[in-house]
Amino acid sequence: MTAVRHKTRLALLLLALVVVVLTVLANWRPSLTRWQAFLLPAPAPAAPLQVTWLGTATVLVSDGDNAIMTDGFFSRQSLFQVASGDIEPDLARIEAGLAKAGVDGPGGLDAVVVLHSHYDHAMDAPEVARRTGAVILGSESTANVARGWDLPAAQIHVPAPGEMLQFGQFELELVPSAHVPMLPFIARLTGHGETIDTPLRPPAPVSAWKEGQSYALVLRHPQGRLLIQGSAGFVGGELASHEVDVALLSTGSLGRQSTRYIGRYFEETVLATGAHTVIPMHWDHFFSVLDRNTHPLGPLLDDFHGAMDGLQQQSALHDRDFHLLEPLDTFGMEGGRLTGN
Ligand SMILES: [Zn+2]
Repeated sequence: MTAVRHKTRLALLLLALVVVVLTVLANWRPSLTRWQAFLLPAPAPAAPLQVTWLGTATVLVSDGDNAIMTDGFFSRQSLFQVASGDIEPDLARIEAGLAKAGVDGPGGLDAVVVLHSHYDHAMDAPEVARRTGAVILGSESTANVARGWDLPAAQIHVPAPGEMLQFGQFELELVPSAHVPMLPFIARLTGHGETIDTPLRPPAPVSAWKEGQSYALVLRHPQGRLLIQGSAGFVGGELASHEVDVALLSTGSLGRQSTRYIGRYFEETVLATGAHTVIPMHWDHFFSVLDRNTHPLGPLLDDFHGAMDGLQQQSALHDRDFHLLEPLDTFGMEGGRLTGN
């Protein structure tokens, strides 16, 4: 009897230890200090094109007359919430996020471009479109996310392959691309390569937001051309006919890939488009609310330094500028160059 009780106590102790170790690893904050030299300084205030990183692959690009946002994800539920129950757009966080970005209210945005349909890209987009009057651009899966939120059909558009979209001086093209490879159980859980075939009404489990089509967004403006890559994946050759100045590259799960894979990712995005500047994104701990202190994902969830090392080395090798932004940072562009650098 005593032996059984002893074993039970030992098992409980081990379980507690495992939980503590996992919690510490999940919340570990990789430091940005190592990358201090690569952080961009504050932009020149009069830059005609402004680009703001709002965490994950959410980027705002504005020229003062028109504004485009990718994804528009602000809910950022805790890992516990995401893993343990149904989730839905957090209206207060969306409101605060749009206010921080300065695009709240009708007419705030022209388009929300959803780069694929996982929850951390597509979930909040219909509410962002509803509040700002923007049109949602994305795959048929994203259209079903928007329909499930009762967004009017006039605000939902699934571009045909090669379709060019014009908003003021902005020209957008959604280029079919691919998602970064994930661990098999995460790929299964998040519907890797699967589509959302009926309107998705939240609350729903995270697995309801299946990937759908993944895209690279090519955004052209007289003052600068951007590649906004929603996930660290590639098909091969899809960006060969596109030229950009700056490549904003998602790096989630990139640090877990081989050196060869990182080289291929760089080749298919930066070298294919001739980008002179590389800026990583989607490395932030997106299970916490977005502010200037949002830190990179910890070692349980990603290899932040591995991804940065890989992209920085490739940038040095191919003579490209490599810069880091902190969440909520803005940089300016004029004539294809970054201003103030
Ligand atoms: Zn994804």
